[in-house]
Amino acid sequence: MTEMITTDAAKSLAHADMLLLRFGEFTLKGKNRTRFEKTVLRHVKALLLPYPRAVLSKEFGRLYVALNGEPAEELAEALHNVFGIVSISPVKACPSRLEDIIAASRTFLELLAPAPGTTFKVDARRVWKEFPHGSLELNKLVSTPLLQGYPGLIVDVRVPQLELKLEVRETQSLIFCENIAGVGGFPLGTSGKAMLLLSGGIDSPVAGWSSMRRGLEVECIHFYSFPYTSEQARQKVVDLARVLSRYSGVIKLHLVPFTEVQTSFTGIGQDNLMITLMRRAMLRIATGLAEREGALALVTGDSLGQVASQTLSSMNAIGRATELPLLRPLVMMDKSEIIDLSRRIGTYELSILPYEDCCTLFVPKSPTTNPNLRILEKIEATLPGYAERLAAALEGTETVLITPYGNERPRDVIAAETGIQEEWF
Ligand code: ATP
Ligand code: MG
Repeated sequence: MTEMITTDAAKSLAHADMLLLRFGEFTLKGKNRTRFEKTVLRHVKALLLPYPRAVLSKEFGRLYVALNGEPAEELAEALHNVFGIVSISPVKACPSRLEDIIAASRTFLELLAPAPGTTFKVDARRVWKEFPHGSLELNKLVSTPLLQGYPGLIVDVRVPQLELKLEVRETQSLIFCENIAGVGGFPLGTSGKAMLLLSGGIDSPVAGWSSMRRGLEVECIHFYSFPYTSEQARQKVVDLARVLSRYSGVIKLHLVPFTEVQTSFTGIGQDNLMITLMRRAMLRIATGLAEREGALALVTGDSLGQVASQTLSSMNAIGRATELPLLRPLVMMDKSEIIDLSRRIGTYELSILPYEDCCTLFVPKSPTTNPNLRILEKIEATLPGYAERLAAALEGTETVLITPYGNERPRDVIAAETGIQEEWF
């Protein structure tokens, strides 16, 4: 059980017949709203593939997943990560007859076993207008027997600790209370596409997840310097991309051979500018890849002031190497907040594995915190064969598709194996 699922939610999950998923308020109206909802629906469908008995249905602002025996907690765990879903309620269903509704409400309350002194209310909604009792009347009709059975409960109609919600519909009635918080945000890919510069560190995977949560489709770019960086360092990045793919179904990873570019900066007597030059080179290659893949922005894990290359002055000098918008989702966050998020999304344990990144190996003793743009541009313009090395790195880039399910495989094979439609990735 994760921190997202409280004890009360777990209790009601244990006997749930269905899950109710609520869409976020996607401020957008009309066509865009429909597009957003369709995207969420597709994402949920993809996650339900391993659970063939689960049946999905849609209603304005909501989705229902009828469980038919599929494990509620496992599904809630997976579905609360769907971008665009703000909350999930485990639901108990019963026939729309007063005696059944009372009996099912009682069972629901027994499951939760509220402590004496808990404040409580019933909040009924008569959706099916032919039902003989109105919403207000239903509140009374259901809460009276419940209170008799639980004399310890105290009625509080304003801010109760426990609110039993009841919806009477024509086909069945739904009883639920505990909400499991969803990750919210915008549905996957509805904001366009960006390229994430993914290192093996703590920050960039979090920056990637934050971008996805804002509705961006993300492709990852990793720069490696074989033989200076090991096979384990590469594998670590593949594994990190795999964790990110849990949130998107599949993710593209571009692996850029960076050794030649990186070594062009050694021996020029400008060690303190090495990191700045490397970062600018990364942005230039990433810009080329973005153009090739039709992405409109670059994303990095920079956080203001964290290291020498992330002072405002460094960011300014580095950022000038691209004309694309440079998105830095973590720029104003504290390290502790970033670490909390990386734990929550499941990348932390991988990120702290010790394998060397291409940058750590070439780190000079005193990297500058205040690089001079004109000097950088002059060095780049006079390095022999520099533009060719950048072009060769772009040319030599290897692209793999990564899914949560296993090894890197071509797109049609993934589609065949998982049943996820190709248009999805
Ligand atoms: P991270 O934890 O993400 O590695 P960091 O605090 O170590 O970040 P830097 O190493 O200065 O910071 O890197 C800043 C950003 O540059 C990273 O967040 C990432 O977006 C990008 N970056 C650094 N190294 C690489 C690499 N080898 N491949 C791709 N991107 C990289
Ligand atoms: Mg790093």
